[in-house]
Amino acid sequence: MIERFDAIVIGTGQAGPALAVRLGASGRKTAILERKLVGGTCVNTGCIPTKTLIASARAAHVARRGRDFGVMIDGPIVVDMPRVKARKDEVVAQSNGGVTNWLSNAANVTLIHGHGCFESPTTVRVGERLLEAPQIFINTGGRPAVPTLEGVGEVPFLTSTDMMAVDFLPEHLIVVGGSYIGLEFAQMYRRFGSRVTVIEMAPRIVAREDDEVSATLQKMLESEGIDFRLKAECLKLYGHAGEVGIHVNCQEEPRGIAGSHVLLAVGRDPNTHDLGLDMAGVKTNARGFIEVDDELRTSAPGIWALGDVNGRGAFTHTSYNDYEIVAANLLDNDRRRVSDRIPVYALFTDPPLARVGMSEREVRASGRSALHGKMMMARVGRARERGETQGFMQVLVDAGTKKILGAALLGIEADEAIHCIVDVMAAGQPYTAISRTVHIHPTVAELIPTLLGDLKPLQ
Ligand SMILES: Cc1cc2nc3c(=O)[nH]c(=O)nc-3n(C[C@H](O)[C@H](O)[C@H](O)COP(=O)(O)OP(=O)(O)OC[C@H]3O[C@@H](n4cnc5c(N)ncnc54)[C@H](O)[C@@H]3O)c2cc1C
Repeated sequence: MIERFDAIVIGTGQAGPALAVRLGASGRKTAILERKLVGGTCVNTGCIPTKTLIASARAAHVARRGRDFGVMIDGPIVVDMPRVKARKDEVVAQSNGGVTNWLSNAANVTLIHGHGCFESPTTVRVGERLLEAPQIFINTGGRPAVPTLEGVGEVPFLTSTDMMAVDFLPEHLIVVGGSYIGLEFAQMYRRFGSRVTVIEMAPRIVAREDDEVSATLQKMLESEGIDFRLKAECLKLYGHAGEVGIHVNCQEEPRGIAGSHVLLAVGRDPNTHDLGLDMAGVKTNARGFIEVDDELRTSAPGIWALGDVNGRGAFTHTSYNDYEIVAANLLDNDRRRVSDRIPVYALFTDPPLARVGMSEREVRASGRSALHGKMMMARVGRARERGETQGFMQVLVDAGTKKILGAALLGIEADEAIHCIVDVMAAGQPYTAISRTVHIHPTVAELIPTLLGDLKPLQ
């Protein structure tokens, strides 16, 4: 027997739950499906647990630096890994429980546990049940990519998801992938007390960023004792549980890096391979991401794709914004589009890197005439008071329109301070809207008007 709904949401990531609740509140009978953990990646295996673990790692780091602040701690700093994991689990459980309760109590919303798979453009099978709706919303997210390295399959390795179960200190963690997820884990485990080596195939870490950002970040992490092996080639895993290693060049006698555990952090694949998309007529691109238009409609009428699965963002805030776009267009008669979104994200190393808009490389490539401002964090009072002066702030402005094109803030509290730039960009105002504004002293954001007050032509 077919169960009829007005809408079906597949996946409880960062877009699905909010959309299901809005659809339910509008009187539409809505089913939302989850095959694993309610709340999806961010809540269970992504942002929330990693940032909770990073908080523990920072506590250890600050405790070790106590002497710098005149705080004498008698005895060694010991990290209790089972307790660190238990604290992470508690924070995750609160969020996971919160989303589950929210969905379970929402008007007109039915939460169904199970794997959803299209049988036609309007029907989705979940186990024995067949659901039908004229509108279907895909929010199935992604999973860690496992590269086709030699040795994968025989040699044990960890992914970012597996790291959630770790309650011990790896003696030597080898992180394959010097990008956002890999670097957060690298610094975290170094601070917990592991030896850490990061292996990256590109000539520099976070290769999407400007050279100076990559170099400063690497130096910052090296100062904490993390080793880097860049331009690694012909990667090959070897060894067995507790004694693993990786060959990192193509010579006949390859130089191996031996460790106790390997974390593969080389990107994420979209969860589209097992959704029956061909039965629904939903097209994907060569990498498996669902093709969508500016309002997140797929190639199949009545089917939308939101979040990481559409390849238009890879963050919690982009997924949530996808929900806002779809809800505004469908329910509020308010035309919103993905192309209205200004790219913004952070890498949560300590100190973090916060980014908005274009990088310096992108501005140069665009050929436009631009202004550039840069300030070392050592000039920022808040950074000096906290004894955390690493990094710099950089901003790029269009010389003609005076609008901000982009910024990279690498330094203490950069992830918060960036928002004054983001808001002015979103409001379509020139940089003078910030440079003439009084900010609170002593904060990091206080120096952003000063930074913008000293722009020079980009050479
Ligand atoms: C280690 C790590 C750290 C991260 N840190 C950050 C951060 O600090 N900030 C940030 O903005 N982003 C971060 N991200 C990214 C962020 O987690 C995602 O962008 C975010 O969760 C949005 O995902 P989503 O809404 O597309 O779906 P997801 O959160 O991935 O959820 C998809 C859900 O759909 C379910 N599902 C899949 N297929 C089916 C099916 N066929 N039937 C039923 N259910 C299905 C899955 O089980 C899952 O629960 C991080 C990611 C990782 C891995």
